[in-house]
Amino acid sequence: MSQGSDPFDLASFVVAHDEPHAFDAVVPPIVQTSLFTFSSYEEMLATYQGEKVRPVYTRGLNPTVRLFEEMLAKLEGAEDALGFASGMAAISASVLSFVEPGDRIVAVRHVYPDAFRLFGSLLKRFKIEVTYVDGGDESAIDKALPGAKLLYLESPTSWVMEAHDVGALAQLARRHGAISVIDNSWASPVFQNPLSLGVDLVLHSASKYLGGHSDVVSGVVAGSKTMIDRLRAEAYPYLGGKMSPFDAWLLIRGLRTLPLRMKAHEASALEIAARLQALDVVEAICHPGLGNRLPPGLKGTSGLFSFIFKPGVNVRAFANHLKLFKLGVSWGGHESLIVPGEVVLEQKAQPNSARAFGISERSVRLHVGLEGTEALWSDLASAIETATKAA
Ligand SMILES: *Cc1c(COP(=O)(O)O)cnc(C)c1O
Repeated sequence: MSQGSDPFDLASFVVAHDEPHAFDAVVPPIVQTSLFTFSSYEEMLATYQGEKVRPVYTRGLNPTVRLFEEMLAKLEGAEDALGFASGMAAISASVLSFVEPGDRIVAVRHVYPDAFRLFGSLLKRFKIEVTYVDGGDESAIDKALPGAKLLYLESPTSWVMEAHDVGALAQLARRHGAISVIDNSWASPVFQNPLSLGVDLVLHSASKYLGGHSDVVSGVVAGSKTMIDRLRAEAYPYLGGKMSPFDAWLLIRGLRTLPLRMKAHEASALEIAARLQALDVVEAICHPGLGNRLPPGLKGTSGLFSFIFKPGVNVRAFANHLKLFKLGVSWGGHESLIVPGEVVLEQKAQPNSARAFGISERSVRLHVGLEGTEALWSDLASAIETATKAA
């Protein structure tokens, strides 16, 4: 999808798989097979010799996965894309493909918690250092970049939703000879196309909006053919975190409605955020579309944001009173979800890391799903009333 085009133009989303399918099926079939056979010794030899490109084994190439990759590449305006078993597999493969011991990465602060943990554990063990910078502070990034191999971006960030001028940051990376990578899960290709802003690689947790139905865990990376070939050469086959054909099929299904879903998430979340902001018991809202102008390149906002209660609200009573909003991690599906910050701060595995994401006891993360704004609002309003009395 080219920049400036209507982000809700469904036609630009479906063309990639509007070619005829086997049996004239309207939906592309799932090629659920681990291996592909050869009709002759000669055909096998020609494939091994690289004269013929065709699927051999699903860890390398699978037609259903390939179809999803082509659709996603088109949506992000990329030459190529590569599907992974999870968003984290996409993140680890993207980073590991470009760094070696002694290298340094500059990352925006408050990145997705498991990316932060990957950087602080495995990467640290392999002598790769990560410097965190406020993504809104371009001069700090400019100062941190000399000598860095990679600039790792996420905009907006996972819990406090800091939205950055992605194009400006990508230019800084280019000027300092660093590769830029961005996690674009929050905005989806409907609201942000980072490659058109000058970023080198864009990745998604496809478990979120791309799938859109809370029934798949997978990831994808898109970029130039040269960059994707680099991933395809080592990290993809040898780390082995490939996307399954069934997951790719679910994602192809999800992409058909992506623009419509994003439009609904955006409208509902903006309305609910505005109503929350008007309440006495709410201290602050972390939503990039509320009051602020969006940074250049961000064309809209999604359903995920957080807010902070004033002291004296019983967050436990609030959470337990909700009916439509379920308590649960992840986001991007039909369902509305909440995560109370005070629970995340109790996380045993990484006791101190939650503070690094900007999470506090009084913050709550909301995913506004597709159940309908008024029903969701009355659920929230009644839970807040109970929680205020219970305090
Ligand atoms: C969920 C998420 C990931 C990780 O994706 P998985 O599919 O769960 O591995 C990465 N980045 C962001 C912003 C996420 O929300």
